[in-house]
Amino acid sequence: MSDVLNLACELIRRRSLTPDDAGCQVLIGERLQCAGFAIEHLRYGDVSNLWATHGDGDPVFAFLGHTDVVPTGPESDWASAPFEPVIRDGRLYGRGAADMKSGVAAMTVALEQFVAAHPDHRGTVALLLTSDEEGPLNRDGVRRVVEEFRRRGQRIDFCVVGEPSSAEKLGDIVRVGRRGSLSGSLTVRGVQGHVAYPDKVRNPIHLAAPALAELAATRWDEGNAEFPPTSFQVSNVHAGTGALNVVPGTLEAKFNFRFCTASTAQSLRERTEAILRRHKLDFAIDWNLSGEPFATSAGKLRGAVEAATKAICAIAPRADTGGGTSDARFIAPLGAEVVEVGPVNASIHKIDEHVALDDLEKLPGWYRRIVETLLADG
Ligand SMILES: [Zn+2]
Repeated sequence: MSDVLNLACELIRRRSLTPDDAGCQVLIGERLQCAGFAIEHLRYGDVSNLWATHGDGDPVFAFLGHTDVVPTGPESDWASAPFEPVIRDGRLYGRGAADMKSGVAAMTVALEQFVAAHPDHRGTVALLLTSDEEGPLNRDGVRRVVEEFRRRGQRIDFCVVGEPSSAEKLGDIVRVGRRGSLSGSLTVRGVQGHVAYPDKVRNPIHLAAPALAELAATRWDEGNAEFPPTSFQVSNVHAGTGALNVVPGTLEAKFNFRFCTASTAQSLRERTEAILRRHKLDFAIDWNLSGEPFATSAGKLRGAVEAATKAICAIAPRADTGGGTSDARFIAPLGAEVVEVGPVNASIHKIDEHVALDDLEKLPGWYRRIVETLLADG
């Protein structure tokens, strides 16, 4: 069994449901300590974070990942137990096999190999892991670690996130940015009453419907070189008492913007509220900005990733900014170039999650090549 496969299996065996790390980071910390890394465990609340560094000074190259996994769903629906790694038909099965314990194992092995081959490398190489990536809050994970980094003046110049970015073939897509996510919880107030007395009520459904239609039809921006146009989606609408003869007093709607760098959260908030005011609604909105958009333009890191992908995966990767949010959003504001590169994401969060063994075996060499391009010369 190869080193990376062995470590991936060890990690899958640990039942690390967010925010429980279940010992993954201690295992990795001990390995990297043996390889000469300085190890720091940053624990905030129930969340474990690991910061491992080798070398000193600039530039700082950090791998980023998470040890937590999402729930399995009904375990009886799995062909084999989700926390018992199993190899079948050239694939490794288990919860986290793709998202992202293979990536974590490969980043660890890549760093061990890199410092063994280049003990006097330039700058600093590092690994940052959290057990709070998949949860709803992400409060005590990378967000919190980055606050601590700001206090210390800890910089990161290059960051590779080993999240599963590939769509069909290993290396076909590298993620060079992510859209921002802005959610709104809208309450429209009317006046409740009997449906037979229209002059005595203010129907919030009738009032809100044309406003929601206008929001849905609005072209918020045209996108730009890195991103498609900003999109707006209503995810929930609720009004009514259940009775057929009562006009409800309020309507509640939830909506979300996935926005690009051609808009700002502030401008989207203002434009939304202006439309609602124009429709003369009596309303309140609870806004939640869960991620600002970011993009890493063509530069040293993207160059290194493209060259490594061509060499190891024999494919020219397409740069993309799709998908949901990731912890990369917290690292980018430190001024880092950030790229997400990892295995195929077709089975993530699903029953029978898996990674192809051929892909898993390629990951450490792929990651190592990226670091070597940037930091190998002493
Ligand atoms: Zn993930």
